[in-house]
Amino acid sequence: MAIIAEYIWIDGTKPTRKVRSKTKIIHSEPNGSQIDDLGQFTLDFFPTWQFDGSSTSQAEGGSSDCLLKPVRIYPDPTRGADGYLILCEVMNANGEAHGSNTRAKLRKVLDAGAAQEDGWFGFEQEYTMYDGSRPLGFPSERRFPAAQGPYYCGVGADEVYGRDLVETHMEACIEAGLLIQGINAEVMPGQWEFQMGGPGGDALKASDDLWIGRWLLYRLGEDFGISATLDPKPVPGDWNGAGMHTNFSTAAMRAEGGMKVIIDAIEKIAQRIPEHLAAYGAGYEMRLTGHHETCRYDEFKYGVSDRTASVRIPANVEEDGCGYLEDRRPNANADPYEVAMVLLQSVCDLY
Ligand code: ADP
Ligand code: MN
Ligand code: MN
Ligand code: MN
Repeated sequence: MAIIAEYIWIDGTKPTRKVRSKTKIIHSEPNGSQIDDLGQFTLDFFPTWQFDGSSTSQAEGGSSDCLLKPVRIYPDPTRGADGYLILCEVMNANGEAHGSNTRAKLRKVLDAGAAQEDGWFGFEQEYTMYDGSRPLGFPSERRFPAAQGPYYCGVGADEVYGRDLVETHMEACIEAGLLIQGINAEVMPGQWEFQMGGPGGDALKASDDLWIGRWLLYRLGEDFGISATLDPKPVPGDWNGAGMHTNFSTAAMRAEGGMKVIIDAIEKIAQRIPEHLAAYGAGYEMRLTGHHETCRYDEFKYGVSDRTASVRIPANVEEDGCGYLEDRRPNANADPYEVAMVLLQSVCDLY
């Protein structure tokens, strides 16, 4: 039996980290501690591996080895029964977390007390599909499609582009056991969204699943000749940018009387605008203009059902008197570990 393990990690590219992967074939049989009660592999079965950090902006050539430490196992929908996707943290040769390892930083905040709040995160990952140098649905050369309006949640070959890949990606996410919650066509042609995390999605699970969801999107895009980008403003002018609205709740927000906890949390978030923006993805100034369903990046306002606010309280949350808030500022290219971390830090006073 050979196991095909795709080791996946996040690199050190600036200003926006990218996801990388390489394949390890494991020929050995698992021993007792490498199989759990359900007959599944434990993390123990997948050895620590290394890679050339000088090719990923994570090390200098003279001392280039970085370590890949497996942290979560997923079935691999692209390879079938003997395939696994192995999400890894990047460690230095001495075993300490590498500077680019934002997951380890998030773990620290969780361990410092944030985990007790039982936070859930629901990320709305928007992205844009490209066929060559033009978004899908954009006519060739310098012409533009008809203005925005019909594309959001549209149906029909004249309004929606790339659905084959979107459906294949959604099925793959389900097969991999990701907490995917839904998909929709977005406001600009070629632009789509999938939602990851949500109820039961703690900071690590929701963020891990989002990174794996991104990897699957890129990987399956290869088969379709389509590249997906997380560019926050792929087309300048009167076209919506791509965001990663982040829905967030703590146990207290979800419990009776949670509305007051939500407002208190938003007021804490409002005190730390620069710290939040620093975690919300490169190029936020281009997307958070005050137009196209955004609030300007240097302003802060919140409101019920308000899609021109920085933070929105969904209408159903006001009606129920408890639930969650939506921070609309994160860009599509934000790192979910950093977004979750800054929200937890602000709301739990851990900074
Ligand atoms: P919209 O496009 O209207 O902003 P979406 O349906 O795309 O909303 O995304 C809302 C997300 O919020 C969903 O993915 C859902 O899983 C998530 N969510 C729902 N309840 C909670 C909660 N209590 N805590 C965190 N996220 C939540
Ligand atoms: Mn949405
Ligand atoms: Mn959206
Ligand atoms: Mn939203």
